[in-house]
Formats: sequence, structure tokens, C-alpha cells
Amino acid sequence: MNRPLQILEKYWGFSSFKSRQEAIIDSVLNGQDTVALLPTGGGKSICFQIPALLNEGICIVISPLVALMTDQVNSLKKKGIKALALKGGISFDELRILLDNATYGNYKFLYLSPERLQQEMVQNYIKQMNVNTIAVDEAHCISQWGSDFRPAYRNITILRELHPLVPIIALTATATPKVLENTIDELKLELPNIFKDSFVRKNISYQVIVEDDKLYRIERLLKNNTGSAIVYVRSRNTAVEINNQLNSIGISSAFYHGGLSADEKDRKLDAWKNNNVSTMVATNAFGMGIDHPNVRFVIHVQLPESLESYFQEAGRAGRDGAPATALLIHNAYDKILVRKQFVDSLATPADLKKIYQTLVNYFRIAYGEGAFSEHSFNFTDFCQTYRLNTFVAYNALNTLDRLGIIQLSKEFGRKTIINFTVSSEALLSYFERDILASVIGKTILRIYGGIFDSPTKVNLDLVAKKSGQKISVIISVLKKMERDELLELSLYITDACLTFLVPREDDKTINVVAKEVELLNTKKADQVEKVLKYVADNNQCRSLQLVRYFGESNLEPCGICSVCNMNTKKIDMTEARLIAKDILLLLKQDSQSSRQISESLRFTEAKIIQVLKLLLDAEKIHIDQKNKYCI
Ligand code: ADP
Ligand code: MG
Repeated sequence: MNRPLQILEKYWGFSSFKSRQEAIIDSVLNGQDTVALLPTGGGKSICFQIPALLNEGICIVISPLVALMTDQVNSLKKKGIKALALKGGISFDELRILLDNATYGNYKFLYLSPERLQQEMVQNYIKQMNVNTIAVDEAHCISQWGSDFRPAYRNITILRELHPLVPIIALTATATPKVLENTIDELKLELPNIFKDSFVRKNISYQVIVEDDKLYRIERLLKNNTGSAIVYVRSRNTAVEINNQLNSIGISSAFYHGGLSADEKDRKLDAWKNNNVSTMVATNAFGMGIDHPNVRFVIHVQLPESLESYFQEAGRAGRDGAPATALLIHNAYDKILVRKQFVDSLATPADLKKIYQTLVNYFRIAYGEGAFSEHSFNFTDFCQTYRLNTFVAYNALNTLDRLGIIQLSKEFGRKTIINFTVSSEALLSYFERDILASVIGKTILRIYGGIFDSPTKVNLDLVAKKSGQKISVIISVLKKMERDELLELSLYITDACLTFLVPREDDKTINVVAKEVELLNTKKADQVEKVLKYVADNNQCRSLQLVRYFGESNLEPCGICSVCNMNTKKIDMTEARLIAKDILLLLKQDSQSSRQISESLRFTEAKIIQVLKLLLDAEKIHIDQKNKYCI
């Protein structure tokens, strides 16, 4: 008989298991409900894939994201393992064929979303299947206390009713104790074996600093970086902006966000992975599947929305086990921004009702109907037709998507981006030769003032209106200009696609989830507060603060974070006196900021800051109105 290790070698080519993988696999093979709590990249997938391969029959995998399903199905297929995924937007007939295959075609894996599981036909088929394992990936989505709550995850318990004897394995990387307990409860697991890796990352130095001149900080860190780095930001615009700034100071970087096409994403990811580009400036879209060993720095230049996301993103540093730094740079404005971006913009149940009603009117969905119907969706047109505030509408639609009421395709929210690669003079001389290009080009220049500075999102509807040209004409002109090497164009003209997942029941549809929405909103606000608390606490070891948040206790301070550094590296008084003398000499000439001081002196910044504190306490120096040190 094959053993897990043989399967691992045969299909994956690995010679040994990582951490708890083998114990987890044994537990599933023993037919026990199992919880695998391993960090991102910890190798959770094989924990259900290997037991499934060792047993006769099929493994049902519930996964929250189509992208995740597709990834896993493709990599299984490459290994010659029969796997399929039920995606959104397939016809009833296609669905039946896929399910027929899964049932009678010797398939080993069937991936589906929790929404799909609600369909009666899907349930009927699954009941007939010879199921050997039920895997729930990203299981924390079932908990309203988790960061990615998906009410539809609650439907998963139907699988237990269909196959009472089959073990369920729940997999997650994020689980605070409350979330873990709640997840086990909601999934109705029976006396599960729980396997948990410590979340402590000994080689990462967590640092938090307050700084207005963020670029300067990034430059100092990345200037001599020979490995890779990620700079995380919280908006697409900022990603483009910071990327330009880095390039202008000679740091090789690229930007990455959810608005790029799949091709571009692949290209950029490859360039970064192959070290052609050292730094990736990215939004949280840069996450799934990023398994790169020598990331030396993960720098956050804006506050993240939760410690869960922060920990995951920071955790992409130092996968190779070598020393790495996770730095969070923030300033006073970021505190306001993080609340504005992640708390004030939350859609209330009332907002959701309004948008949902507008949506069903827009698509003329009859009461009680519409489930699994797919529509092509032009967001701009939708907002214009009903004079909706695009920001609120955008958030509400995304919330409806997350709640499993609708599903938006990945094109949603994308815009055409234009990046001029020549000077304005060259462009104007081109216009003289091409009247149509001149009409359209000048309209674009008029609407988007700073377009020469950075790649700019362009609203083609607006350009069409202002220039009086058809969108198709505008596109062909832009394409010609691209061929003539005047600009780079990322074109998104395909409308997004919107699928209703449940029948229209007006306010009732929303009422069902209203409580969840309110809880979710409260929880998000609380998560933001926890982030603010983390950055403000300069007394407790940073690593300890983080892992305590994830329920670990009785640990020693890490000794390498910004807090530990301050505490352990208490300088001796002889050295302090030396530094103090130099500082006083400097300040005699002029008042200076701590940065200016540390640039002039050859001591480490940490030491200089300590001495500055001592001098302040002794009232030898003061801080003036410009926040500079003076005598
Ligand atoms: P998770 O779901 O926990 O984030 P994955 O299952 O996607 O992690 O696995 C992350 C990476 O680790 C994958 O590239 C996978 O091939 C690799 N991996 C998994 N198990 C092992 C192992 N025993 N030895 C080496 N690499 C492994
Ligand atoms: Mg995974």
C-alpha cells in the first residue's frame, strides 16, 4: 500500500513533510475531523490532497475564490490527477455535464464555492458520489469574527448531512482563538484534532516608525538591498505613484494591483520572482500564490486594515529563514486615512437595500427570480442611469458580492490606463499630422491634467462625451498611437459580468443578512482600532504583540524588533556622553531634526534617539515649534 510520503514524492517530488503535515494527514486518514492551522505558505493543500489520493473516491473541496480553485485544479491536472472546479456563470447543462463527470468519471477532486453548494442539483449529485474527504479551505470565512466572513460558508454543514461518516478537514492561516472556536462550532466538527503551528517568525524583525518622509526611509532601506522587497500600499493610485518615485531614485521596481490584466500580473510577478525587478509596490492583490524565498524587506507605507492582513503580508518576508525586516511607516495623517478608507466607507444595510433594489430594477429581475442569472454590467452606465455616488455604489456592490448575494467578475472596477512615453512636444507634433488623434488626444490632455507624470486611469465614456467621438473610434486611435510608440495602453473595454446568486426578494434578501452586515461593520471598525493600538504601543515587543493577537502566550520577547532594539541596546554611559557631546555641538550651530542629526553623525539612529531622549529629560535640549531639536 502507498504511504503518504510515497505520494508526496511521486506527485510533488518533495522528499519530506513540512512541520505538522504528516500528523495532519494521519488524522484525516484515521477518519477524524481535523483542523490545520498553518501560516500562509505552510503547505496546507497537500494536507487534504494526500489523504484523498490514498483513499478510493472523491474529495469535495470548498474554496472561497475562483482564482484559488483554478490554481489548484490546474496544478493537480499537471500532475495527472483528475480534478475539476464548478465556476460561476456556467449554464445548467454545462453544470450537469461537469457533475456527471465528477460522479462517474473517476475524478479525485471537486472544487466548488459555498454558494454553488446551495443548488439542489449540486447537492443531489454530491449525495451520489463516493466522497472520501471534505476539505474546507480558508475555513475562517465561516466565522463572523474572522477577517473574510462569508455567510454562505454556513451552508457547508449540508455536506455533513449528505455524508455523515466522511471526515471534514478545515484549513486556515488566520485564526484568533475566538475565530478558531467559532469556526469549529459553525462547521459542526466533532471532537476535531487541532494542529497549530506557532506563528512566531524568529527571523523577521518587526519595526514600526513614525515618519512623514516615507520615500527617504524606503530609499535608505532598499538602496543596498540585494534580495527582493515588497512595498505594500492601500490603493491602486498609491501603488503607481510610489513605483514612479522609487524608479526616479534608482530603485528597480514595478507596481501590481487588482486592476491589471492577468497577463500583466503574470509578467510583473515573473520579473520580480526572477529578480529582474527587485521591488514590487503592491496592493493586497499581491498575495495569493506569492511564495518567494528571498524577500528581505516588506515595507508598509500605509496602515493596513487589520493585523490579520498585516501579519500575512509581513510574513512574506524571510521565507528562506534568513534575517528579514517588516517595516511599517506611518504618520499622523495615516490614522485619519485608515478610518476613512476602511470604517467610514462601510455600507450599511440601508445602503445595501438601496443598491440591491436599483440593481434588480436595472436588470428587470422579476420578484422571486434571477438566481444564477448572469448579466453583462457596465458600472459607469449603472451609476449614471441612477445618479449614484460611485464610491458608495462600488463599496455596496463589493459587499453584496462578499455576502454571496451577487457575484462580480474580476473585470469589475477596472479602467483603461494610459501611460505616455514621449514628451508633450513630440506628442503635439504628432497631432499636427493626425487630426483625429489630435481631437481625441487633446481631449484626454484637457481632462487629465497630470497625465504626463504617471500612468493615468482614463474614463473612455467621458472622453467619448467630451470629444464627440465613438468609443470604438477612440480605442482604434489609442491603439494606433500605441503602435507608433507614443504611449502604453492597458485597455479594459470588456464589461464586467454580474451574476445574481439568490432569487430577488427585495428588502428581505438584505434583511436576512442585515445582522451579519452590522456585526461585520463593527468588527471591521474594531480591527482598525487594533492596528492603531499596535502602532502606538512602543513598550511591548512587536512580535509578541502580533502573536498574542493570534492567541499565543508565554513567549519571550524577540530581541530584534524596533521595541526590543530600543530596550536591549541600552547604550553605555561613556558612549552616550560622546554622542551627547557631538549632538550639542551640532545644535549649537542650528536646530535640527533627528534625521538631520543622524545623517551628520556616525552613530546608529537608535542610539542617537536614545541620547536625544536623555538630553531632553535633562533639559539640555528642547524641541522647537518646527519639531526640531534645539539648545
Ligand atoms: P498554504 O495553502 O498553506 O498557503 P500551499 O498548500 O499553497 O500553502 O503550499 C505552499 C507551497 O509549499 C507550495 O509551493 C507547495 O508546493 C509547497 N510545499 C508544500 N508541502 C511541501 C513539502 N513537504 N516540502 C516542500 N514544499 C512543500
Ligand atoms: Mg492555501
